[in-house]
Amino acid sequence: MQDDEPRWHPDTLAIRAGHQRTAEQEHSEPIFPTSSFVYSSAAEAARKFTGEEAGNVYSRFTNPTVQTFEARLAAMEGGERCVATASGMAAIMSLVLGLLEAGDEIVASRSLFGSTVSLFDKYFGKFGVVTRFVELSDLEAWRNAITPRTKLLFAETPSNPLSELVDIAALADIAHQADAWLAIDNCFCTPALQRPFELGADLVIHSATKYLDGQGRAIGGAVVGPEALLKEIHGVVRTCGPCMSPFNAWIFTKGLETLGLRMRAHCDNALALAQWLEAHPKVAQVYYSGLPSHPQHALAQRQQQGFGAVLGFEVAGGRKAAWSVIDACQLLSITGNLGDTKTTITHPATTTHGRLSDEQKTAAGISEGLIRIAVGLEHQQDLQHDLAAGLDRL
Ligand SMILES: *Cc1c(COP(=O)(O)O)cnc(C)c1O
Repeated sequence: MQDDEPRWHPDTLAIRAGHQRTAEQEHSEPIFPTSSFVYSSAAEAARKFTGEEAGNVYSRFTNPTVQTFEARLAAMEGGERCVATASGMAAIMSLVLGLLEAGDEIVASRSLFGSTVSLFDKYFGKFGVVTRFVELSDLEAWRNAITPRTKLLFAETPSNPLSELVDIAALADIAHQADAWLAIDNCFCTPALQRPFELGADLVIHSATKYLDGQGRAIGGAVVGPEALLKEIHGVVRTCGPCMSPFNAWIFTKGLETLGLRMRAHCDNALALAQWLEAHPKVAQVYYSGLPSHPQHALAQRQQQGFGAVLGFEVAGGRKAAWSVIDACQLLSITGNLGDTKTTITHPATTTHGRLSDEQKTAAGISEGLIRIAVGLEHQQDLQHDLAAGLDRL
């Protein structure tokens, strides 16, 4: 089965890759909720503990259900190996712990997921890894921020919540000229819409919590990349412990089976809503790369196979106006999560980006009148109706 996988379309890999059928001949992927594994002899145990013989030892190291998810996601991204983690943040933490050391530097986009900014700035900063933040789309700024100590370029594209992009192929060239790795957080597009390895990226990060699950049920993450780098990252996960649970791995594996279908439906819904918002008299601005008014519309068309389903829009009247639109919603869920069948609405300035200083918020374009919508799969007209209630009253 494994030998044929590379020839299959990603939609097929999403359904078939990674499952090694057991002696029970099950059709659907099984769950192995076991913390440890047994051996037929003391000698076999010794060989497996030293790694001399391949096989399961303990579920912090490897677990068959987790491995199914890892193999499937690696195949879909077109990467050599995947290591699953307890969360998206655990994936980013494990990547940095595995590949960098004190004195190394990171260059990262400013408009990152809020916790990623804190992780780099506050926690890795404490251990002597310095991060320089730059404007995501400004390639010159990336180039200028690189020093001889730069080991990693880290970008999230498209960004949350303004749908800003970076040219991945150009950024990969910049990274490689500096002998650094480029890691892309592919959470918002997933391999169904964007394949960073084909554009030259070295590592791909996921918060599986979002679209890979797709139904808002579990927290998880993953790093995908070449074996030489993933070996180090797996070493962190098995030693430090941020491993994925078998049950969550099973949820994500089943989520991947419908990823392509869901992402196409999410994108259709998001584009229709973005167009409707753009035409609404009470909406000052819409940020969505699927709209021709978006400054990077052409890059999004070239780089992505869809525009994603997270959009931002601004209303005049700051926090008060934004909160009143949000509070008028009966259908949309007021929650920070995204990548769910259920559409969610958030006020970034006071929630997802609330930990940022005013200065950081301004630099990231997070104004008080900004509202983020992660468009789900409900019927388009119902979403519009729900938003119209608050907007029409402004
Ligand atoms: C949610 C998110 C993360 C963090 O993932 P968790 O699973 O919540 O730890 C990282 N990057 C992006 C882009 C995210 O949206």
